[in-house]
This record gives sequence, C-alpha cells and structure tokens, in this order.
Amino acid sequence: MTETNTDTLVTIVGGGVHGVHLAVRLLQADLIDVCELQILDPTGLLESFRRKCRQCGMVEFRSPFVHHVGTDPFSLRDFARERGREDELRSTTVGAERPTASLFFDHAEWLCDQYGIESTLLDARATDIKNNQGNVEIETTQGCISSQWCLLAVGHGRSFTYPEWARELVSTEPVTHVWEPTFDPNTIDETSTVGIVGGGITAAQLATMLTQPGRDIVLFARSPFRVETLEASTDWMHFSGITEKLHSRPPASRAREELVAEARYDGTMPPYVFRRLQRALKQEQIELERSEITVATEAGGTVVTTCRDGSAFCLDKLVCATGFGSQYDNELFRHLRRESTLQTGYRGAPVLDDDTLRWMRQDGTPSRIAVSGVAAQQVLGPFARNVIGARRAGELIAGLLESELKMKQRGVSRPEI
Ligand SMILES: Cc1cc2nc3c(=O)[nH]c(=O)nc-3n(C[C@H](O)[C@H](O)[C@H](O)COP(=O)(O)OP(=O)(O)OC[C@H]3O[C@@H](n4cnc5c(N)ncnc54)[C@H](O)[C@@H]3O)c2cc1C
Repeated sequence: MTETNTDTLVTIVGGGVHGVHLAVRLLQADLIDVCELQILDPTGLLESFRRKCRQCGMVEFRSPFVHHVGTDPFSLRDFARERGREDELRSTTVGAERPTASLFFDHAEWLCDQYGIESTLLDARATDIKNNQGNVEIETTQGCISSQWCLLAVGHGRSFTYPEWARELVSTEPVTHVWEPTFDPNTIDETSTVGIVGGGITAAQLATMLTQPGRDIVLFARSPFRVETLEASTDWMHFSGITEKLHSRPPASRAREELVAEARYDGTMPPYVFRRLQRALKQEQIELERSEITVATEAGGTVVTTCRDGSAFCLDKLVCATGFGSQYDNELFRHLRRESTLQTGYRGAPVLDDDTLRWMRQDGTPSRIAVSGVAAQQVLGPFARNVIGARRAGELIAGLLESELKMKQRGVSRPEI
C-alpha cells in the first residue's frame, strides 16, 4: 500500500454508465463539490462500454433517447438539435427514437466536461474495501483511499461465459469471446471464414457487421431467433409497484434472482437488428447453422468444429457471443465475498437495502457502501444494468447522501457506521 488520500467524500468505483451518471447526479444536485469526488477506473470514463459497442458493431442504442447519463430526460435530444445531429436519432416502430452510439457518447463526454468529471478520475483498480467506523478504506492499485462513502458501479467486470467445448481453446489464437478485451473485429482478415456462436443481439450485430465480399460468415444459433424491442417489459422501467414483487421476497435470495431472470428477455434482439440479419441471410452473406457445436479442435491456426447434427466446419476465427457471466462474479465482488464483513446471499448476491442500495453488513447494520448497476438487480429488477437503471439507482443513492449529509451539517449525531 502506498500513500493515503483522506480528503474524499465520495469515491465511485467504476467510471462506466453507472459511475458517470452517479457523478453527474451528485454534482448537479450540489450534494458534493468536484474536489470531494473521486472516480476509480483503470480503463477511463465510459471506455469499457465504448469498447464493447465497437467490438459487437453496435451503432445504435436499443433504448430511447431519454435514456442517457444525465438527469434531464431531454438533454440528449436538445444536444442533438443544437448541433444539427437530429438524423442520429433513429426512428423505431415502437416508442421513442434511439440515439446512435456516437451521439450517446458525445453527449456523455459533453456532460462530463460540464461538470469537470475527468478531473476526478484516478487510473486505478479497487482491490479491497473496508468499512471502518465512520469511513471506508479503499485499497487500489495506486494506494489506499479513505472516503466517507463508496459507490460501487463495476458492471460485469471481466465476467463472461464461454461454451463448455471452448474452455480448452480459450487461450488459442482462433477462438475468442466478443467481450475479451483483446478482441478487435477490425483485425479479422478480409477473406477469412468466421464462425459466430450465439443467437441474441450481440451475435446478430457482430455477424452483420462482419459481412463483406470475400469473407464467409457462419452463425451458429441453436434456437429460433426471438424478437423483443427491449430487454424486459416496460412495466419494470417505472420501478414502482412491480418492484414490490421483488421486495416482498427475502433480499439476495434465489426467489428474487429467479424473478429477475424470468422478467429479462435475454437472448433476444430488437426488430431493427432482426431485419438486418434477415436481409444478410437472404442475400447469403451469412450462413445459418441451426445446430450446436459439440466439439472444437485447433488445427494449425484454424479451428475445426463438429455440430450435433453431424456437420463440420473449418474456421479461421470463432467468436463466442455467448453472454456475460454472473453479475456477482467480478474480481472485486469475489474478493469482498471472501474477505469482508459485507453480507451476501444466493450465488454471492449482495444484500442491499431496498430503499437506499446500501450494502448491509453481516451484523445487520448498513455499510457506507452502496451499489449501482447489474449487481443491484435484486432491488431494481431487470433494467438495473441499463441506463434507466442507473437513473433509478442515482435517485436512491442521491436521496441517501442528501439525508446523511444534511444530518451531518445540522450536527445530528448517529451511531457511527
Ligand atoms: C453492447 C452493449 C449494448 C448495450 N446497449 C444498451 C442500450 O442500448 N441501452 C441500455 O440502457 N443499456 C444498454 N446496455 C446495458 C448497459 O447500459 C451497459 O452494459 C452499461 O455499460 C452498464 O454500465 P456499468 O457502468 O454498470 O458497467 P460498465 O460500462 O461495464 O462500467 C463498469 C466500469 O467499472 C470499471 N471497474 C470494474 N471493476 C473495477 C475495479 N475493481 N476498480 C475500478 N474500476 C472497476 C470497469 O473498468 C468499467 O469501466 C448495453 C450493454 C452492452 C454490452
């Protein structure tokens, strides 16, 4: 451990959509000053999400323009209008227009500039967190930070899933996962034969992005495609009423986890992606293999796959678009599960307070650590990971800090936590 910084009021671990939104919200509400805030992220603000969008060829968002990292729903639309970029708000058959990825990120960058958020960024990974009496000590790759509050917004981290048959091939050159930090679709040879495994939005976007004359694309999708505009019913976007269904079950429980899993339309794709895929299939730019790979063998820089239906393929590259791993399995959460006094439940889910998202300690008292993002899905439901989920988490966490900071200003004392 090197030096210790003791001035921070709020430390946000993770500078993705959730971390940036929390920062914007707290600064905009004047709850904290920019010099009292620190964001830790070794990849830079929003960089990890930007990379994922590039890696799967996502040029348009699935969610409407009112979902962005700011707090005023119309801020992104006004940003587009003021810059003559209305054509980057793409129409949909259902609901509001959706922003292009470049518009979304430019707007986010503009907001970060407005609030000086880049200046709060420390290029460091949090490796351990301890909730002491009245403060939180965050051990990082750049030393130890002492902060009054710690907000965790770490996303899935590097947790993503490979199919069973790919496990031994993971470190070989031809087999990769779309979310591997080293995967770059632009380095795939123009004349190569590329296999993509998966049947959801990521696989479909990647396959259609990679089509070009001279390149063969095989899409391995074992189940029929399912089309859904969003990732769950819009009822879950209102975070009232319906989330009571979750809250009536024990926190961090199997019952809550199953309810969220049932509510999520995982493995689906929105209509505009499906249309593009259908077009590419019709024009034979993509070959569809409706079977499941059972065996894959590396052979001199290529990979040979055999499917359940007996068909075989020799591929120069095989990219798995088979989803994320557990939402509670990023490195930091795994460490905290083993080493801290924070309470966890089913499959390592954090036990969070439903009203404030504070992580509860094993003795039943709330810690000074709150959680935003996919790991808060047992409180917020299937949209917890999404941009709209960041907004809801932001409301709850800002409400918590507002009351705690006000109490402190008034000198109201409370047993130290
Ligand atoms: C391709 C794709 C498209 C999507 N499209 C949409 C959409 O259209 N609409 C929508 O609402 N949602 C969408 N989502 C879902 C969601 O909005 C994104 O996943 C979003 O990136 C989640 O934000 P996050 O901040 O939780 O996680 P991330 O963006 O993953 O950010 C987490 C950050 O935490 C950092 N971090 C992790 N561990 C540590 C640590 N120990 N110390 C310090 N930093 C750490 C990481 O480096 C990372 O920068 C999409 C997701 C993907 C993958």
